[in-house]
Amino acid sequence: MKNFSILILVYLSVLACQNKTDNALANKLLKKHSMGNEIKVFRFHSVAKSEYGPQSYDHAHPKPSTREAEFYLDQSERSYYAEVKRYNFPGTFFFWTKEFQKNQHSYRYDVNGVLYGKRVVQRDSGAYGRAIKQAEEMLSFKQIGQLYAAKDFAVLAMDPSQSSIELKVRANSDTLVLNFETETKQLLSTHNLSKNTKYFFKDYVREGPFYYASEIKFVDFDGFEETTHVAEVGKLDVLDSEKLVLPKDHGAIFEDLDLDIELEKLSANLFVISNVDYDRYVAFKIEKGSIMVLGAPGGAQVSNEIIELIETKFPNFPIEYVYITHPHSDHMRGLSAYAKKGVKILADPYTKSAIEAFTPFAKDLEHFVFHPIENETVLNGVKFYFPTNSHSKSQSFAYFIEEEVIYEGDFLEVPLDNTIPTYMSEVERQFVTFLKNENLQYNRIIGHHRNGNIQPEIVEAYYQNNLQEGP
Ligand SMILES: [Zn+2]
Repeated sequence: MKNFSILILVYLSVLACQNKTDNALANKLLKKHSMGNEIKVFRFHSVAKSEYGPQSYDHAHPKPSTREAEFYLDQSERSYYAEVKRYNFPGTFFFWTKEFQKNQHSYRYDVNGVLYGKRVVQRDSGAYGRAIKQAEEMLSFKQIGQLYAAKDFAVLAMDPSQSSIELKVRANSDTLVLNFETETKQLLSTHNLSKNTKYFFKDYVREGPFYYASEIKFVDFDGFEETTHVAEVGKLDVLDSEKLVLPKDHGAIFEDLDLDIELEKLSANLFVISNVDYDRYVAFKIEKGSIMVLGAPGGAQVSNEIIELIETKFPNFPIEYVYITHPHSDHMRGLSAYAKKGVKILADPYTKSAIEAFTPFAKDLEHFVFHPIENETVLNGVKFYFPTNSHSKSQSFAYFIEEEVIYEGDFLEVPLDNTIPTYMSEVERQFVTFLKNENLQYNRIIGHHRNGNIQPEIVEAYYQNNLQEGP
């Protein structure tokens, strides 16, 4: 019996020793990958590419779009500055914004005027925290440093094989598996088992006090993938104060609020709903005893709110049709709520195929009933036009014949303050050229995004001011 106890004691102390070595090695691996995390003021440049079928020209053959960013962070002062450019979208849309936080004040403004014009978005003081989160997603030393510094950090298991060392840890209440290459001790990937997200790290760089992966690939549970290249990570003495002020030619600060939806009557039977899914517009037309809804953004909750508003106002008219301008995820996510109520979806063959291929609809597809439309179809006082364009393989706009009003989505980007953007995309040029060639008379364009009342003279000025191809 005594011998047996000694055996157990020996076994336990071997285990303890093993644990100690494991912890020491884990410590060393994590410390190396946290190099630079202690630097309070620094900057970096990133270029992220992701491809997503339901935002592409052809949903079956997606091409990557790009998000390029320049970050300046001061973690002592809790201030930051970021310049973000988003491009390589189908139709050559180009969004370019700058944002910063100083003390409790945070703003975002537009450089080419496409999104906000001269208006400035006042953001909540959580913007700094969100910027830090974004930096963590792109910088391996912030990500690992964050884990390593977690209050509940614990090494749960270590499993060295010939080619890699697998480390299982708990940090910030999540469980993660980290994979290191045995020979170089470089971190290859992290798998967050709690969130079911993965990061893959490549091409490590040592730059001053920093050690980081210059390529990070992120994969989420939905299969969404984004590859980011990081460069120019540099320590700063201070964050340049000139970056933390609004430019003089910008004004009219507005709060970033999610307002209640609002109904506007355009004619006896044409209505516009604003503040849909934050800053979008949905229209509806009553004709021949039934209703056609135009635009289905957001998702089921947003659609149900609109359906309820229409049914309350017009209890005697059923919603018969719902129309989307093109099958991009942000324009069609609300369709399933209509389909479940037996509302027919107006679509040409490509739009129908893209809707049927949209994964979030898979479980509800049995409810989807389509009503075919094509170029110049006229239905209940609405005429549909399908201009050839570079944004979506099939994209149309609706023309309310009697009212001479257009409803479009992603054919025109005029900000709410009607200032003329200094950049015009290819698809907008194609759209305005189409209107000119058709000699289509209109007195108002309801834009799906941001501006529900675009006047013809604004469209003309935008077109004339941007006759040169942009960057
Ligand atoms: Zn689109």
